[in-house]
Amino acid sequence: MLFTHHGLSGPAILQISSYWDGRQPIQLDLAPDRNLTADLRARRPRDPSSWRLLLREVLPRRFADRWLETYPLAGNSDRAWADAEDRLHAWEVKPEGTEGYGKAEVTAGGVDTGELSAKTMESRKVCGLFFIGEVVDVTGQLGGFNFQWAWASGFCAGQAV
Ligand SMILES: Cc1cc2nc3c(=O)[nH]c(=O)nc-3n(C[C@H](O)[C@H](O)[C@H](O)COP(=O)(O)OP(=O)(O)OC[C@H]3O[C@@H](n4cnc5c(N)ncnc54)[C@H](O)[C@@H]3O)c2cc1C
Repeated sequence: MLFTHHGLSGPAILQISSYWDGRQPIQLDLAPDRNLTADLRARRPRDPSSWRLLLREVLPRRFADRWLETYPLAGNSDRAWADAEDRLHAWEVKPEGTEGYGKAEVTAGGVDTGELSAKTMESRKVCGLFFIGEVVDVTGQLGGFNFQWAWASGFCAGQAV
């Protein structure tokens, strides 16, 4: 995930945007598969700077500082540490929007795969009409799967035409 001057971006955000309904907030796990507070919870440090230092290890420094300004630790109790941990794994963000079609890397929707032969990509309704790649309702995860789909479906159609 990247913080840009436009807002949140990067592969994780682009991936989420394929599924975002344009209304609901999204939840972001800022420290996946990690429990940051376990050690501090056991030690109960009086000095809050150890929490700041730990956050700076997993988040960009300025973001970590801003995080602590926005969500200061509410004491040194088990509850306070548990809340701090939970919040880090479920940061709720309500996007104002996306960058739209012009900046999209992949489009959801398209020609229904049920209307096509899975072997040749030919339309079941119109002989000699083939659909491949992006125009079909197939949306791959980021990371090359959309190219792969375009090439593979193109290859299949190419064998049949
Ligand atoms: C910025 C960006 C980054 C991306 N990064 C990745 C990535 O890292 N990995 C990945 O897997 N996918 C990525 N994608 C998605 C991937 O590029 C597409 O899924 C894939 O190129 C679709 O292939 P396609 O052949 O179906 O369509 P396209 O590649 O869009 O090809 C369609 C072609 O048809 C031409 N055309 C359109 N209209 C006409 C017409 N009337 N007459 C003749 N020609 C016409 C167009 O000029 C174009 O050359 C990215 C997309 C974008 C926009």
